[in-house]
Amino acid sequence: MKQSSTDKQKPAYGMASNCAFMIRRAWKDCKGVLSVCAGLIFCGVAASLLELFVVPSILTEVERGVSPGELCRLILWFTLGMTAVRAMQAYLDANTLFGRVAVRSGLGLDLHLRFCRTAFPHTEDPDYIKRLKKASRCLDSNSDPGEAVWKTMTGLATNVVSFVIYLLLLSQVGPWVAGLCAACSAAGYFAGERIRGWRYRHREEEGKLIHQRDYMIVRSRDPYLAKDIRIFGIGPWLTELYDKYTRLYQDFYAKGQRYCLWADLLDVGLALARNGAAYGLLIAMALRGELGAAEFVLYFTAVSGFTQWVAGIFSGLGELHRQSLELSVLREVADTPEPFRFGDGKPLPVKENHRYQLELRDVSFRYPGGSEDTLSHVNLTIRPGEKLAVVGKNGAGKTTLIKLLCGFYDPTGGQVLLDGEDIRQYDRRDYYRHFSAVFQQFSVMAGTMAENVAQAAGEDVDLPRVWDCLERAGVADKIRELPKRENTQLGREVYLDGVDLSGGQLQRLMLARALYKNAPVVVLDEPTAALDPIAESDLYQKYSDLTGNCTSVYISHRLASTRFCDRVLLIENGGIAEEGTHEALLERGGRYAHLFEIQSKYYKEGAMDDE
Ligand code: ADP
Repeated sequence: MKQSSTDKQKPAYGMASNCAFMIRRAWKDCKGVLSVCAGLIFCGVAASLLELFVVPSILTEVERGVSPGELCRLILWFTLGMTAVRAMQAYLDANTLFGRVAVRSGLGLDLHLRFCRTAFPHTEDPDYIKRLKKASRCLDSNSDPGEAVWKTMTGLATNVVSFVIYLLLLSQVGPWVAGLCAACSAAGYFAGERIRGWRYRHREEEGKLIHQRDYMIVRSRDPYLAKDIRIFGIGPWLTELYDKYTRLYQDFYAKGQRYCLWADLLDVGLALARNGAAYGLLIAMALRGELGAAEFVLYFTAVSGFTQWVAGIFSGLGELHRQSLELSVLREVADTPEPFRFGDGKPLPVKENHRYQLELRDVSFRYPGGSEDTLSHVNLTIRPGEKLAVVGKNGAGKTTLIKLLCGFYDPTGGQVLLDGEDIRQYDRRDYYRHFSAVFQQFSVMAGTMAENVAQAAGEDVDLPRVWDCLERAGVADKIRELPKRENTQLGREVYLDGVDLSGGQLQRLMLARALYKNAPVVVLDEPTAALDPIAESDLYQKYSDLTGNCTSVYISHRLASTRFCDRVLLIENGGIAEEGTHEALLERGGRYAHLFEIQSKYYKEGAMDDE
């Protein structure tokens, strides 16, 4: 696997490879970008040559004693040429913007889609998220590498072509003039870069400082924090933190600026030395009569121009190097291998009766970077249509078990099997089609109620089915009361006329969504957490109707909520501590019975307190 450049190691892709990548991308998305860049290079070189030759040409004509009319015509031609080139340059510059934005947007879209489609473990992997954020920062704006690289490449090519032309010209005076100019420019560039590069070398530190400051800004606008700010009076604390982080960043910035000042002073010193020596030689040659007035002006102008090209080449290379590092991260994220099969694998058997058997065979699982197994040597067979309850204390591993069953993670030991076949053989997206779920943390989209239930839009929404599911989930009455019924927008983040539902109503809507999918296996992870006791008991009573023929896995930390299930698993110490029906487990008088006793005492006392 290619190395990640975020680890301060060598980037996986070099400068040339990244330039080629961008050119290929433009060839695919918007060929115009390439022809416009070629046009800009031509204009840049032509403008510099016209500027270089205008005065010497006029002087030559004056020396030749041409008439004022001819002189005026020459000046007019130069002026027209220059105007045409500059106008062309401005036109191309303005127009290329759209093409460049299109290429950047295409790369951005690819990155977003990649995150939406990547294997689930990546979405919880801090390193992947960090690299993804870094990659997307490279595409944020016109001045970020995903777009600015075109300007750098165009500028660099212009500088290289002009450099070659000036080099040929100055070699006519004496090779050492060109050598001196090149050496001084290179020395100035490398020393300056070393100093100016301080900020680049400290970019991680800068990123951290910016992140801290921005975090304070984002958090202070967070509606969830609004209540805390008021109730706990945390305004002064937030302000103090913000001031602290701002001060730290300002100190860092000032330090960087001081380094830049030194770099500028060095530049001025070297330019003085270089120009002094080259101009001195030209003046001496002119005084000795070795150079005519026109040649003198030509070479004089060429010296400063040449320096500019050399410096331009070095700074262009430096800029391209920096941009290339970031483009490399973008490509490395795209290269990250997927741990699951996507788009290939064995076709998954489709059964009309939805009767699939799931099995965990000697399954162990440790989270990446974890020091011990969350689950260890778990064996479990879930029969087709079985209603299974999984209980256990917080952090016991119930959700992890579900993540393995659903195929969000592969076990680190053992196998997950569907009808006896290891699920790793199947296309993982096919496998997901067999599951429906209400997770603890659910996400709703800014769309209508119906769209949120159907997870589709327009004609793809089966309205009668939506209403049937809303009824079964017990939220239909609430939706009927809304101004536009099922077409009411959910939430007000995007649509100002949207409606916010309470936690319990949202949870029921999510239940309707799970029912709508009508998948063979339904997973309900604490689906009653936001429901009131009456709604909770209502759900328990309807549980069999709701889940029908489907296999269902019901997770809860409320032991009493498992009575309606065929089998209960108690997860403890990374394994299945006990299993059986609720009654059998109580009869056994083990851990489950003990925990149940504690919970029921608490609930009874709670109920008496309520009375
Ligand atoms: P439960 O659902 O029973 O409350 P979980 O399965 O969510 O428990 O968590 C089991 C253990 O795994 C906990 O110690 C938790 O901290 C850890 N854990 C859960 N998710 C992750 C994750 N993405 N990365 C690392 N550890 C995790």
